[in-house]
Amino acid sequence: MKPVIALVGRPNVGKSTLFNRLTRSRDALVADLPGLTRDRHYGEGRVGERPFLVIDTGGFEPVAKEGILHQMAKQTKQAVAEADIVVFLVDGRQGLTPHDKTITDFLRKSGRPVILVVNKAEGMRYNAVVADFYELGLGEPAVISSAHGDGVNDLVDLALDTAFEKRPEDPEELEKVDRGVKIALVGRPNVGKSTLINTLVGEERVIAFDMPGTTRDSIEIPFEREGKKYTLIDTAGIRRRGKVFEAIEKFSVVKTLQSISEANVVVLMLDAQQDISEQDAHIAGFVLETGRALVIAVNKWDGLESWRRDEIKIDIDRKLDFLGFAKMHFISALKAQGIGPLMKSLDQAYAAAFADLSTPKLTRALIEAVEKQEPRRKGSIRPKLRYAHQGGMNPPVIVIHGNALDAIAEPYKRYLEKHFRETFNLVGTPLRIELRTGK
Ligand code: GDP
Ligand code: GDP
Repeated sequence: MKPVIALVGRPNVGKSTLFNRLTRSRDALVADLPGLTRDRHYGEGRVGERPFLVIDTGGFEPVAKEGILHQMAKQTKQAVAEADIVVFLVDGRQGLTPHDKTITDFLRKSGRPVILVVNKAEGMRYNAVVADFYELGLGEPAVISSAHGDGVNDLVDLALDTAFEKRPEDPEELEKVDRGVKIALVGRPNVGKSTLINTLVGEERVIAFDMPGTTRDSIEIPFEREGKKYTLIDTAGIRRRGKVFEAIEKFSVVKTLQSISEANVVVLMLDAQQDISEQDAHIAGFVLETGRALVIAVNKWDGLESWRRDEIKIDIDRKLDFLGFAKMHFISALKAQGIGPLMKSLDQAYAAAFADLSTPKLTRALIEAVEKQEPRRKGSIRPKLRYAHQGGMNPPVIVIHGNALDAIAEPYKRYLEKHFRETFNLVGTPLRIELRTGK
């Protein structure tokens, strides 16, 4: 599991600036998707070879007794409780404030490991910046500039080292096990996740429950279907009770995020008997942001009147239109209906996410697309598309090279995406098209 770093601190110390810096590489993927409910508080980051999840607990106000601030404080508390490491930001230009002390008390009670970080320290002398903050009793502060990036990579290394000290799992041991396709089953409480797991696992042979390395309170559920291996990864909100799995009341954003980022394919479960909620849209937003392959399972399809079926379809298309790349299945976890086709789409999404696309094939497809429909001129400039190569997997990235590609408008980019999707059967995964103009 990727370690979770929580950014904590009073308003204006620079949390979101640091958050954006840490998660920046992901933004390009989702930047141009209209209608996406994004929660810019949760993201994936990577420094060198080390991936992690980061939470910005923006607007943290530990003293509020009610209202939205109280609500946020509750979420912050849960995020802190579930984080592997807390990065506590203070403002080096402003110096120590009473709020910093309140937050320190709260963090101390949480029992989580904390790194104190003085931000906005660019151009300042170390001793001068940190002097104020020893008083907090959190040890020697790290010093960074979120805005300029100074010290940020070192901070992440320090945070991850500290997190791993607390978690003596052996990642190599974990990697030795063949898990097949790793699936995250996500959705808000009560949509039917544990029912689906019991159906999947009950119907088919369960390989083994005791996997090495699963010592934390994570659960992994390996199973086989038609000779293929799958593993449900740390499904949030599910607990094992003897041979069956049951739901736990609490919803955990951190766990949901962790299982998504660990999985190859995400199954987003929705409840056909309820309207699509804000929470559904948020979870969908996380999936999109990580770029994972996705299948949508609309559950509790049994016993629904046909008018309701039409209604929910329209609701999904309207509120989750940014998931257009994913296949949607209407299932009943309880009655084991629609499970076969769902698993087929899951296999297909997996294959698409990890598709290996050769440069000659991509270039041929590109030329074909251009022959069918050329890009428009922009003034006197005619963009020229020359060749394409694969720039990444999971999600696939197709890099197109040529001249004057800046002049290519969004609709043509979407046309190209559609053409590549159809040519290479890329269903169920986001697909990123990058245009690179040669000099
Ligand atoms: P948050 O409320 O904790 O999320 O704080 P923000 O990230 O919104 O930053 C608050 C203000 O501090 C913004 O005007 C930022 O531009 C500024 N800021 C953030 N990091 C730095 C930094 O490293 N140096 C300086 N000088 N300003 C910064
Ligand atoms: P979880 O919180 O997402 O794990 O949801 P559960 O699996 O605990 O299901 C919540 C409730 O929905 C339970 O009462 C289930 O019996 C019910 N349920 C789950 N799947 C279906 C289904 O396909 N059809 C119907 N009618 N009810 C279902």
